[in-house]
Amino acid sequence: MSLMHVLQFPEDIEGLRTHAKPVENIDGELQTILDNMLDTMYQHKGVGLASTQVGIPYRFFVMDTSEDSDSPIIMINPEIIETAGDLEWEEGCLSIPGIYEKTKRHEHVLVRALDREGNEFEMEATDLAGVCIQHEYDHLNGDLFIDQLSRLKQNRIRKQIQKMRKEAERG
Ligand code: ZN
Repeated sequence: MSLMHVLQFPEDIEGLRTHAKPVENIDGELQTILDNMLDTMYQHKGVGLASTQVGIPYRFFVMDTSEDSDSPIIMINPEIIETAGDLEWEEGCLSIPGIYEKTKRHEHVLVRALDREGNEFEMEATDLAGVCIQHEYDHLNGDLFIDQLSRLKQNRIRKQIQKMRKEAERG
């Protein structure tokens, strides 16, 4: 098992704003990265992790929204091809730990992607899985869930993060 460093807001914002490019080759190197991303996601008790969060500028993410965290899903070059409905969801992000805010998302998504072996598949998702796909897909375009919030709220989050860091330093 090999854990990867997860870029953090706000200090790694430049990396997190990367607009990732399509993957052209699915090879052993990429598969190792995907496995390490899954390990990293589970280690941090996350439900999703995108390439741009670990400093890789290509389009893929891993997720697992199952109750027992035993159903990993890998999406390479994902495309959201259909959306329907709206919902509000309280989201968090491994790049913005400790911050949870309500966001607006589509209730239903249909996504098409390549799996770990390069086979194309489609997946319909709602609720947590649907929100997770939209959240991770946004990461591939350099977007963060807090971008949806007002400037006032974003400033409050920055202050909250500073305070949490200071408290962590004091131990
Ligand atoms: Zn995230």
